[in-house]
Order: sequence, then C-alpha cells, then structure tokens
Amino acid sequence: MNIESLPSQSPIVLRGIPASPGIAIGKAFVIKEDSFGHTRRTLAREEVRKEVQRFRSAVNKTRADILQNRERVLKVLGKTHEALIDVHLLILEDSLFSKDIERKITQEMVNAESALVSVVENVRKTFEKLGDEYFRQRKDDILDVAKLVMRHLLGRPGMALSELSERSVVIAQDLGPSETMSMRDDLVEGFATNIGGRTSHTAIIAQGLQIPAVVGLKEVLNHVTTGDMVIVDGGEGLVIINPAMSTLENYRKVREIQLAEIRDLEKYKDLPAQTQDGHRIVLACNLESTEEVRVGLSNGAEGIGLYRSEFLYLNRQAPPTEEEHFQNYMSVAKQMLPFAVIIRTMDLGGDKLAPLGVGRFGDEPNPFLGLRGIRLSLRYPDLFRTQLRAILRASVYGKLKIMYPMITSLDELRQANKILGEVKEELKAENIAFDTKIQVGVMIETPSAAVIADWLAKEADFLSLGTNDLIQYTLAVDRVNENVAHLYNPLHVAVLRLIRSTIEAAHKEGKWVGICGEMAGNPSFTRILIGMGLDEFSVPAAAVPRIKHLIREISFDDAKKTVERVFAQTSDADNLGLFSRIS
Ligand code: PEP
Ligand code: MG
Repeated sequence: MNIESLPSQSPIVLRGIPASPGIAIGKAFVIKEDSFGHTRRTLAREEVRKEVQRFRSAVNKTRADILQNRERVLKVLGKTHEALIDVHLLILEDSLFSKDIERKITQEMVNAESALVSVVENVRKTFEKLGDEYFRQRKDDILDVAKLVMRHLLGRPGMALSELSERSVVIAQDLGPSETMSMRDDLVEGFATNIGGRTSHTAIIAQGLQIPAVVGLKEVLNHVTTGDMVIVDGGEGLVIINPAMSTLENYRKVREIQLAEIRDLEKYKDLPAQTQDGHRIVLACNLESTEEVRVGLSNGAEGIGLYRSEFLYLNRQAPPTEEEHFQNYMSVAKQMLPFAVIIRTMDLGGDKLAPLGVGRFGDEPNPFLGLRGIRLSLRYPDLFRTQLRAILRASVYGKLKIMYPMITSLDELRQANKILGEVKEELKAENIAFDTKIQVGVMIETPSAAVIADWLAKEADFLSLGTNDLIQYTLAVDRVNENVAHLYNPLHVAVLRLIRSTIEAAHKEGKWVGICGEMAGNPSFTRILIGMGLDEFSVPAAAVPRIKHLIREISFDDAKKTVERVFAQTSDADNLGLFSRIS
C-alpha cells in the first residue's frame, strides 16, 4: 500500500509497532481511561472497617473473574498462555493487594479507590525507573489487575468491550492481556493502542487469536472518536483514521487478497518441499509452545527445527521441574512423529529473563552480550542437567535432537557435551532408557561460531543458523532497538558470507545445516538461501505454506547461479543492492 498516495487533508495516518498481522477495517470504539477515574473521600473512623471489607470483596470478585477467564484461556490459547493468568493471580496475592492498600485505607482513612490508585501509582513509578523491558511488562500486569479491582470497586465490573454492539476496531491507551483475551468473544475486528511493545503479552495474545493489532502509537487517542472509520494494518504497523473512500476500497481488496492467498496456499501443505529440479529441502517450523504443534502439523511442517524451550521458564516464579520438562518434550515428540523435534536448550538472558533462583543476572548492562544461552547453562549446570535429563528421558517417545544456543567457541560445545555425557551416565546407572544416538547440534548465531564452523561441524551432528542473532552480532545492531532497525540488513555481504561459509564448512564434514532465524520465513530470501545450499528451513508455523510454495517454484540450479552472481559482484559492496534482484 502506497501511503504517500493517500489524500492529505482529513485522513490521518499513524505509524506504530506492528503487533499482530492482518488488516482490520471498521468503526472505532474508543475506550476512555475511565477505570482510574474516582473521587478521594476521607472516611469517618467507623467507616474504615466497612471500607476494608468492600476492598476485600472487590479483590475476591476479581479473583473469581480471573479464574473464570483461565478456563477461557485454556480453551482458546492452551496451557502455556494460562501462565499469564497465574501471574495475575499471584499479583492479587501479593502484599500490594493483601496489605498495602488495606493499610492505606486504615491509616490514612481514605476510600478504597483512592488508596488503590496511590499505591499502584507508586509501584508504577518504581518499575518505570528500572527501565527494563521485563519490569515494564510486569508493571503492565500489575496495572491490568488493578484496573479489574477498580472496576469492581466502582460497580462496573464488565469491561468496556462488553458494550460493543457491532464489530469494531478498539482504540485504547493500553490493553492488558486479560482484556485482549476477552476479545475472542467480543466483536473486535482489531485494535490499536498508544502503549505497548512487540513482545508484550498483549501482542503475543493478539497473534494467538489472529486479531490484527498495532501498538505503541503514542497519540492515537488524540485523533479518534468512537464511530470514526479506522483501518488497522497489523503487518505494516499503520493506523489510518477516516480514510478516503479509495484507500478504504484498496485496503478491502488487499485484505481479500491476503485471505485468498492464505486459503490458496493450503493446497501445497501435503506436497513435498522440493524445487522444480527435484532438490529436496526439509521444511520444519519453529515452536514456542506445545499448543503450536497443531498449527505446524496442519500447515504441513515436517518437524520442529527450533523448539524455543526457554518459554517454559517464563511467567512463573521458579524454573520448571524435570517432570514438567519431560511431560512437555514427550508430548511434542509423540505428536510430531514421524518427524524430528530439535529442542534448543534454554536460551534465557538477553531480552528473555526468568526468575531462576540463581542470582540477579538480569541486571546486566549489556544483556545481549551477557550471561545468555549456553553461558547461563554452563554457569548453572544444575539447571542445565535438569533440562538435559528430561530431554533424554523423552527421547524414547519420538525423534528428539538437542541444540545448544549462543555457542561462541569449541570449548563451550565441549563443556556442554561433557555435562550431557555425565547426564547420560547417570541415566544409565538408574536404568532409565534414552536414545543413546541422540543428535546434538550447534546454533550458529555469533560471528565467532560462524568463523569456526569447520571445527564445530567436526564435533556436532548438525548446525543451525540463528540469523536473528547472527545479524545482530555481525552488524552490531540491537535486534530490539527501533532506532537502529534500518541497519538490520540480512543481505549485508558480511552476513551472506558467514552464512555461505558455515554451510560449506558443515557440508565438508558431511553434516547437514539448517536455518531457523526469521530470515528463513521471509519469502524475499528463499531463493538465495536455497541457492547457498541449506538443507533445512525452520520457519514460523504460519509461514510454512508460503515458503513451501516458493521452494516448489524455484529451480535449485537457477538459485545457485543467482548466488554466484551475487557473490561475484564487487561494487556496492555492503549489501550488493540485492534486495529486488534476488527476491
Ligand atoms: C536466532 O537467533 O536466529 C534464533 C532462531 O534464536 P532466537 O530468535 O530465539 O534468539
Ligand atoms: Mg538466537
């Protein structure tokens, strides 16, 4: 869609952060931030006890609401997202709600609404000072719960969304996870908010529910009133308010085309991922939770090329037990048969922090260069052993493979393998069965790993290119920083050279090599990636049909020639001006 061509007067185009793809068109329903609107009232001494009771009753009703919501979450989004609800329950049990607010009511003799607002406001300020994405999201969770309690205090328990009488596009300052969750049953086409990030729980849930969404718009509320016509383009991160008729028509067409494409691609799902000239690629999918197995399989994925196991550690107060790991891996392994599942050992650290009970490693000044991935596992071997034991135990129920994240040296691979060897011995001594030939792979996501890929390939069963990080570290571009996003270039010649040399190094040792970074799921790069000789692609489950279709359109021979042409170019050296030519 060419935004420049839109008429300039009354329509307004805002750019935000794309949170969930798809196009939503409809009348705006603006949610006013009414939930914290209240009056401060000083209580007479004899009123205080009653006020505390009133507050407790609001908390109890909120708990009942959350529990009821849990059933819905379980049904709609599956067990992993249920953890979000548990976080809300934990927040309600926190001394903030059980003591601090009650203390304020009693000591300052003020009404519950005003005590709630002032305590929550203090928490908000403290969390904001911490400035860390993880804490910002915890703050959002607390505000979300506070809103629910406030609604009960004000006698308006139903969310504003329940007032919807026709399908609408919701516009709000912010939407908490529980509000987003309830959209399933409400008449919500899509939503746009002032606040929020790409990795917020709200964005994750919107994607799960396939509701187009744009967040982080900063000023959308200044421009929209209920009833305005609005377009939310979740793929591009655009919101168009009061669009011209021609824009509206264009977007309707684009939406139809997008939906028709998705339907059309279904016909490829059971066909092999094979080029025109018979070169076979393994097309697997990436996975963040057990529930996604169903989507992967129904889209025709031939295995899981990357199971981001660290998601099992998030939204909880302690790391998963061996049994929890085991049950999870066993279930995925069984469901995916006859295909393989590559379980990446926990890649915590960076932007993914979890309370592990092992110290405050989350406070690092440069977390992406800190205790992340395999470094964390080697620092806390007990955590690592628990996970490895579970993977090995589950390996007899299907085809599991192990993959280590963030390897930068041969020594790290050897240390990890030493611990794996010890765990295997332990299991043998306990007469516990496991796949003694389980394959162990290395992720190539640091420049150092790519440069020594020849050595790593000698000691690993396979390599997998994690281009999200490989690009970040090669180009020194923080992958979550909007300010340098324009420099994040998968086609930078340095990145392409590292990919090609990694593939060559693996093949020289007779090892297969895959790719599991987002680059693999982007159709613009399929030709060059195939041409460079990758054996396996692992892409987001929703991208499987499109990539399979493309693979089937391409000739391997032609793709190799494209690669030769690309690498022969000497001018325009950095990115070779390739984007349009290879896609
Ligand atoms: C990668 O870095 O490309 C990768 C697949 O791992 P993650 O995105 O989980 O860091
Ligand atoms: Mg990575």
